[in-house]
Amino acid sequence: MTLLAALPIIRGMAGLSFRCAACGREYPLEAASWNCACGGPFELAGGPAFSRAGLEPGEWSLWRYRAFLPVEERVSLGEGLTPLVALELFGLEAHFKLEFLMPTGSFKDRGTAVLVSFLKERGIREVVEDSSGNAAASLAAYCARAGIRARIFVPSYASPAKLRQIEAYGAELVPVPGSRADAARAAEAAARAGSYYASHYWSPFVLEGLKTFAYELAEQLGWRAPDNLIFPSGHGTFLLGAYFGFRELAQAGAISRLPRLFAAQAEACAPLAEGFRLGLAGPAEITPGETIAEGIRIARPVRGPQVLKAIRESAGGVVTVSDAEAEAAQRELARHGLYVEPTSAVAVAGLQRLVERGSIRPGELTVVPLTGSGLKGGSG
Ligand SMILES: [Zn+2]
Repeated sequence: MTLLAALPIIRGMAGLSFRCAACGREYPLEAASWNCACGGPFELAGGPAFSRAGLEPGEWSLWRYRAFLPVEERVSLGEGLTPLVALELFGLEAHFKLEFLMPTGSFKDRGTAVLVSFLKERGIREVVEDSSGNAAASLAAYCARAGIRARIFVPSYASPAKLRQIEAYGAELVPVPGSRADAARAAEAAARAGSYYASHYWSPFVLEGLKTFAYELAEQLGWRAPDNLIFPSGHGTFLLGAYFGFRELAQAGAISRLPRLFAAQAEACAPLAEGFRLGLAGPAEITPGETIAEGIRIARPVRGPQVLKAIRESAGGVVTVSDAEAEAAQRELARHGLYVEPTSAVAVAGLQRLVERGSIRPGELTVVPLTGSGLKGGSG
């Protein structure tokens, strides 16, 4: 065997690079670090843009939009194309997009499918990640599909149902005592020791996958954007990925205007809400309290400035709700036949708040993505 034959074959799309969202510095995709030397997060530069002519109408998964995804490899479990259901709730009709019907039970599969496709393309065999549940379960599943080893650092409070799910896919589970931030530090240390950090909040490939939510929703609505969208937000990655998607749709002339983007946070941990309220460029410094919405209990959202900018540009806002309000919204939604986890219910309670406040009115087209299944158990 020659030396050349022993090297991994690197396929993939030409012309792509990482660009720091904070300072603009560019890095090659081979960069060992998961963020910029300045501490800023990467976005992807040079990826293909949306055009209505480019979609594949015969493809019944998010790969319908593959021409606009920055990967040539395809690691898929059939994710995407989730239903949109209208319900009368809080005195108006709202639409709910059932993102919890993805292969692993949460919206995370949109981003993970594209991230793991990239990893496979680059010949990466082993990854590390930290998560309180849904992102790790998603990564573990897609790594199983791709034949990649996954080691997941989880905070010790993570829901047992989610831990069982992660282990079932064959990932190695490493419980970390302490907070969510301690699990993140353990993953970063493993990454510095040579493992690839397949982070659902640092990797821009996740944002690229989440853009398909916007493409798909616009297509479901007959090529228009809703008036309002409400996302449960921790790091705010889902909101930001959707914003990028809608921005591309508007640039391509596929929709005429952006939807108003609202982030819903738990009162006990609301750095985006506080930053928005105070008119700051980034999230406020906060000390997180306890909440049942573990999936969004993020004290320092790594893309906070970009998320707040997207919210302001779209004339949206940030709303906070108590655990009691989230639980009541979870019950109310279940009485209409949809069973979601507490983190997802934060956005439903947020809808109620925004309706009561008059920010969202009857007659407007309002969509709430339901991000995670109630079958996941416990908090999250
Ligand atoms: Zn930078």
